[in-house]
Amino acid sequence: MLGVAVFATGTGPRPGGRAWDLFYDLVVYHVPWVAAGAACWLTARTAPREAVAWRAMATSLLVGAVGNVARIVETGQAGTTPSPVADACVAVAYGSLYVALFVLIRARVTRFLPSMWLDGVVGALGASAVGAGFLLGPYLTGDGQVSVMQVAWPAADVLLLALLAGVGAILGVHLDRTLVLAGGAVALFCVADAALFALSVADRYTDGGPLELLWLAGVLCAAVAAQRTTGDPRPREDDGGVRITWRLVALPLAGTLAALAVLAAGYGDQLPSTAGWLAVGCVLAALARTAVTFREVSSFATVRQEARTDELTELPNRRALLETARSVVAAATTARPAALLLLDLDGFKEVNDSLGHGAGDELLRQVGPRLAPALRPGEVLARLGGDEFAVLLPAADLDTAAERAGVVHDLLRQPFAVDGIRLHVGVSIGVSTAPVPADDVQELLRCADVAMYAAKTERTGVHVYVPDPSSGSGERLRTMEELRTALVRDELDVHLQPQVAMDDGRVVGVEALLRWHHPVRGLVGPAQVLPAAEQAGLLRPLTDTVLERSLDAVARWWDDHGVPVSVNLSAANVADLDLPRKVAEKLARRGLPAAALTLELVEDTLMADPERGRTVLGELRRLGVRTSIDDYGTGYSSLAYLRRLPADELKLDRSLTCDVADDERAAAIVRHTVALAHDLGLSLVAEGVEDVVTARRLAELGCDVAQGYAVARPMPVGDLLRWLAAERLPLVPTV
Ligand code: C2E
Ligand code: CA
Ligand code: CA
Repeated sequence: MLGVAVFATGTGPRPGGRAWDLFYDLVVYHVPWVAAGAACWLTARTAPREAVAWRAMATSLLVGAVGNVARIVETGQAGTTPSPVADACVAVAYGSLYVALFVLIRARVTRFLPSMWLDGVVGALGASAVGAGFLLGPYLTGDGQVSVMQVAWPAADVLLLALLAGVGAILGVHLDRTLVLAGGAVALFCVADAALFALSVADRYTDGGPLELLWLAGVLCAAVAAQRTTGDPRPREDDGGVRITWRLVALPLAGTLAALAVLAAGYGDQLPSTAGWLAVGCVLAALARTAVTFREVSSFATVRQEARTDELTELPNRRALLETARSVVAAATTARPAALLLLDLDGFKEVNDSLGHGAGDELLRQVGPRLAPALRPGEVLARLGGDEFAVLLPAADLDTAAERAGVVHDLLRQPFAVDGIRLHVGVSIGVSTAPVPADDVQELLRCADVAMYAAKTERTGVHVYVPDPSSGSGERLRTMEELRTALVRDELDVHLQPQVAMDDGRVVGVEALLRWHHPVRGLVGPAQVLPAAEQAGLLRPLTDTVLERSLDAVARWWDDHGVPVSVNLSAANVADLDLPRKVAEKLARRGLPAAALTLELVEDTLMADPERGRTVLGELRRLGVRTSIDDYGTGYSSLAYLRRLPADELKLDRSLTCDVADDERAAAIVRHTVALAHDLGLSLVAEGVEDVVTARRLAELGCDVAQGYAVARPMPVGDLLRWLAAERLPLVPTV
């Protein structure tokens, strides 16, 4: 600043002779240049992320100053008088200035596509063509011809400014103080260069006048920019990336149009050849830009398409469905509701397991074409994953949706031809609508999911979600949440129910039945806990807890009574390949033999993955753990399973045993089942024995063991210990 002030005193008439003059123009004038250059160089050290920019800026100022001095020394005056050394220096100075500004801008742009450089080239060539053709045309041709170097500086300035403004507007550069000051410096150079050009052409330029102050102001701007920079450039925060809008193509478009205008205007006329070549270059760059754009856009479209499509079925995927559903739900009104059908194939796992994944995939691929004719325009069928599909109906009330779900259900019930085999799979469909009861997509999915789950467990095919605040699904959701805490807080326990031998009444086993000491609801039974646990995916940790409690209990009486405990398994446990190891570890930790544990499973639990189930059961039996087939007579395909299922015990369901006292047909079934079980080496337990009459009849029919209220109700472990120690009469007195 001091240098600028001192120099300002000399811009008027100067006292003193030629030596003074030289001193002013050579030394005083250049003090600010060198000082600013030094400031920029120092900033490069404190702002490492922009070091390149500040070094380039310093180079520009210092080399520019050297060029000036060289010109004065060589030609005796500053200005535009040609001088090879000076011209070379100025060229370097401009090059460095470009580098500096580009680096500064680059650091402030959120996302930079390589094609944007091409945009810059197109814009620059177009602007140069216009400049060369229309503004400078008269100077480049004919009589008033000036040197290219003279025109080059103001042209370079204008270009730089145009780029700064163009790139800033188009890419959304974060215009911070540093960039504004650096841009200001260029703007001042630009005005000064243009004035110099005009004056030199009119031959009215004199050295050391007030015009020089403009350059010095630019130099000051650059110095302040360096001084005040935070060194921490930040891209604009509001948008995460470049949006595809017309703004993006504005610069290349304007450049191309300008180039064409130059070519058209100059056609057959006297166009400076520089302008012509610049325009042609611009059009070529624009063509290259188009090619790059094509590649970018097509790859973008592919990525977008792939991200929204399910690979296997080529149907829209979950993401695509959610996206569409969002706008559909937003547009839905009570007068014109939207609906979602959530589909889950029944028995798909069996297809996968028995015929292989190839067949499973083939089956999934056929779902889309099968359902396509049933869809109307605007409706979306998507695969959510696995064997789960969804149909979005943008305009359907609950009744319509249920009707459509029925159609879908019937279509999928038709056999599929896979690998030359006719396959029957069913489907369970949950239906829900928006905006009532679900007012957003997540809620809509959740409601449809709850309904689908109901359809699956009740085997009804289609289930419509009807909100019921007091019970039902809302309660199950709450239960699921509470169950997680219950597992951690040790609120789960087992009650124990004895099993006695029909002949002499000795206790042969004890079944552990899950109980939840709910802090508010009191004692909660498995009927409420198990469905919630299954839906929440908590069956494995739940069984872990039950196993722990049950083995803790049996450890208390094993030495005195030698009575084993029976624990119930669910499908999720039977499919758990880690179960045998966990069981062995739990037994060993308590010093219990494997004979202290019996595991009960319902036939249905094996249906999901029979291969795996058999592996797990086989391993458990090798450990020495007994297995028991529970609820026998309620499932289906019982006989086939008995043949292949390794087990030690068969438990006859209460529905088969309760009427034996006065129904001969029921008795016949029991008698033959007993015979079958004994032939297969299984002992037979009659469940739900409520009275002595029934017990006696069951004993006559050959049942080995009785379990039921007639013996004892399930009870806490303390009560059972007392019960075991007490004297009892046999259930069925031997005559
Ligand atoms: P289950 O395995 O058939 O268990 C016997 C059920 O019958 C028990 O119901 C028991 O309280 C009840 N019961 C016993 N004697 C009689 C009787 O004389 N008359 C009648 N009407 N009922 C009797 P609970 O405790 O409600 O258990 C229901 C089902 O929940 C069990 O049926 C079992 O399948 C399942 N379960 C219980 N605990 C667990 C467990 O820890 N894990 C798993 N996965 N399932 C369990
Ligand atoms: Ca059981
Ligand atoms: Ca049972």
